[in-house]
Amino acid sequence: MKENFKAGYINIIGLPNKGKSTLTNALVGEKIAIITPKEQTTRHRILGIMNTEDYQLVISDTPGIIHETKYGMHKAMMRFVNQAFEDADVIFFITDIYDGLEALTPYIEKAKQENTKHLLLINKVDDAKSQEQIQALIDRWSGVVDMENIVPISALKGFNIEGLVARVLEWIPIHPPYFDEDFFTDKTERFLASEVIREEIFLRYKQEIPYSTEVVITAYKEEEKIVRIQSEIYVERDTQKVILLGRGGDAIKGVGTAARIKLEKQLGKKVFLEIFIKVKEKWRDNQNFLKSLGFNVKDE
Ligand code: GDP
Ligand code: MG
Repeated sequence: MKENFKAGYINIIGLPNKGKSTLTNALVGEKIAIITPKEQTTRHRILGIMNTEDYQLVISDTPGIIHETKYGMHKAMMRFVNQAFEDADVIFFITDIYDGLEALTPYIEKAKQENTKHLLLINKVDDAKSQEQIQALIDRWSGVVDMENIVPISALKGFNIEGLVARVLEWIPIHPPYFDEDFFTDKTERFLASEVIREEIFLRYKQEIPYSTEVVITAYKEEEKIVRIQSEIYVERDTQKVILLGRGGDAIKGVGTAARIKLEKQLGKKVFLEIFIKVKEKWRDNQNFLKSLGFNVKDE
């Protein structure tokens, strides 16, 4: 390891749909976190690890801030967000050109009070109509965050990502790596596979279906030329199972095919994917089930 090697945690916090997961993937250069236009796509805290000869940055993607925590799962999701305050060397507060000032400000105030280093990222500048629009946003936010700590980016187009890394490295301490440099995430292949299936469900179904759905990998067997994956999709009601299946099972077949193709690309191998649908009433409030999914549930 090099002398002066730096390592640190950068935790991304923001409202739903601001591009937290897109930024995580852009920084790491791998698809770790799933991305959809729907809110609450990300349910866990997912670490993406950026390794170079000189530094290791552990990027923590988190669920979007939820104000109304309706289910046990929501509370557990917010626990991931709050955890992200605790071990951050730097927090990236992320917003976009469509704003979100009022809702994010209390979280930034908390970081200020705790003296946690932070930047405010204004994402999606590729969608901005003019430089003036971006400047007006910077002016608006400079009431909350020091002007020099506001960074306009486009996570999707990769605009200013290198500048962002250069900027944050000033704040990352000299420290040995936290993870073996072979790793680019803390999550297992099983978890990543379940997320790819969930991404397809979020992209393909409307209304409450994505939110009432969870995916569990029940078997994952890597052979020389093929990876055999068995999965279960949980819904809360029989009616949802019917919608998930679609006419003649067409809808779920679509999910399976699309997820398989994505997984084959990700794993660089052929994939055999099986999906079974199960009904589990009120699973979002089922403490034991949530625990088995990796949520930190407390007795409430
Ligand atoms: P998260 O909920 O904060 O994790 O947001 P995601 O990363 O899932 O992104 C939410 C939506 O915003 C997706 O449709 C992304 O494609 C889109 N998005 C993310 N970053 C950008 C960006 O830089 N520019 C534009 N135009 N869209 C973006
Ligand atoms: Mg996300």
